[in-house]
Amino acid sequence: MTTSHYIAGRWVDGQGSDCISVNDPALGQPFAELMAASAEQVDQAVAAARAALPAWKCTSASERAAYLRGFAEQLGQRREALVALQMRNNGKPRHEAEVDLDDAIATFGYYAELAEQLPGQNRDVPLAAPGFTARTRLEPVGVVGLIVPWNFPLVTSAWKLAPALAAGCTVVLKPSEVTPLCELAYGQIADTLGLPAGVLNIVNGKAETGAALSNHNGLDKLSFTGSNNVGSQVMRSAAAQCRPVTLELGGKSAILVFDDCDVDAAVQWIVAGICWNAGQMCSATSRLLVQNGIADALLPRLQAALENLRVGSPLSEEADMGPLTSQAQWLKVAGYFATAREEGLQCLVGGKVLDRGGWFVSPTLYADVPEDSRLWNEEIFGPVLCARRFASEQQAIAEANDSRFGLVATVCTTDLARAERVADALEVGHVWINSVQAVFVETSWGGTKGSGIGRELGPWGLSGYQSVKHVTQCLG
Ligand code: NAD
Repeated sequence: MTTSHYIAGRWVDGQGSDCISVNDPALGQPFAELMAASAEQVDQAVAAARAALPAWKCTSASERAAYLRGFAEQLGQRREALVALQMRNNGKPRHEAEVDLDDAIATFGYYAELAEQLPGQNRDVPLAAPGFTARTRLEPVGVVGLIVPWNFPLVTSAWKLAPALAAGCTVVLKPSEVTPLCELAYGQIADTLGLPAGVLNIVNGKAETGAALSNHNGLDKLSFTGSNNVGSQVMRSAAAQCRPVTLELGGKSAILVFDDCDVDAAVQWIVAGICWNAGQMCSATSRLLVQNGIADALLPRLQAALENLRVGSPLSEEADMGPLTSQAQWLKVAGYFATAREEGLQCLVGGKVLDRGGWFVSPTLYADVPEDSRLWNEEIFGPVLCARRFASEQQAIAEANDSRFGLVATVCTTDLARAERVADALEVGHVWINSVQAVFVETSWGGTKGSGIGRELGPWGLSGYQSVKHVTQCLG
């Protein structure tokens, strides 16, 4: 049993009814257990955040920046333990776990810089009308609830926590029940840095705990990352209380490969776009659109690359791809393999779970998938790629945009004018040209259509935790 909740600056045991098993997906076995927080403990966490707000929002921007730099530095000092935990609990190979940690560190460093620039955001507004002055004052939104999933635990929470604290908000963070231990590092760091009690609270738990937080009437805002199903429940709670919500939801993103592309480079981008984190990425480019003139050369090379990908324990130096993180996800992907067989899809590689004790599946490629296939349209969240061919740029754009989601897309072509044109026409939040999954903290993250509401990262991430006030004075 692990003490796993950080409320009002104190570590407490969970008093909820759910027992959470923390699993090693490479073995398919638990290695820790904890009790979820009760609804009363969620109340206590929200009350602690509320009590801490008046003092925290009056700290100077440079004071908050110093805390954020402290978070970045302390994450670095815990590198080995946090990398090992992500390898063990998420099944991430070492190099992927290290990228995640570096991303979280960069996020805290970036928002420390933005926090220092906050005083400059409060400036006079030039008015056309005479006799008045007006000034802008950006204030923290208040107490925010942060609910996150399991696929990039340290990163997703850093993308919310760092800008929220920079803006002067106090927070209650609920990690995923699949990976409840990683984010406890943020509580330990808060202790080490002497962050005032109640500024950061962490409650662990399953859906019940998440619902207790998202329904709580003591929040000023909720920021959620996760599935569309839960996202719409969270939005209903926000609607009932008329309060703002940021939603980072699912995706079914396209990678468009044009005839003029270098085949080897394209294969690398395609594989990384579907196999990084074993495909458990909202931004996985799981729909391959390949132009007719290059398809026959590309598909066999892609098939070979996926066949040669080494799937194994994250502890093995040899593994390119680890297991899926949870048994539920493994069963879900297995269900899609069954659907593919029922639909009669042409499987070029994979299409099966691996019998190794843990939650492993093969990297998978289906070719010439009909556009009404469930696998072409639904988010699978595993290393499962569906391919279709296209004739023209117009057709490729139309097929890529024909989705209820709109998170990201990748365009592969040596014709940069075309790349820019296609990027502009794609209905998504982020387009990569001749690169894949390159997320920089200075650029925004978030989607159009069913992929969510709002943006994280960059200055947009900070403004999501700010409220705009204007003070207008009559000079007469
Ligand atoms: P999920 O929606 O099942 O869970 C997300 C979080 O919500 C967890 O902490 C969970 O405990 C909590 N939760 C569950 N039921 C709840 C309820 N009724 N009320 C409040 N909270 C509740 O998602 P998941 O399986 O953890 O993550 C996978 C999903 O997340 C995928 O759809 C993926 O695309 C999405 N995702 C999106 C982004 C993005 O940036 N757009 C990033 C990562 C993951």
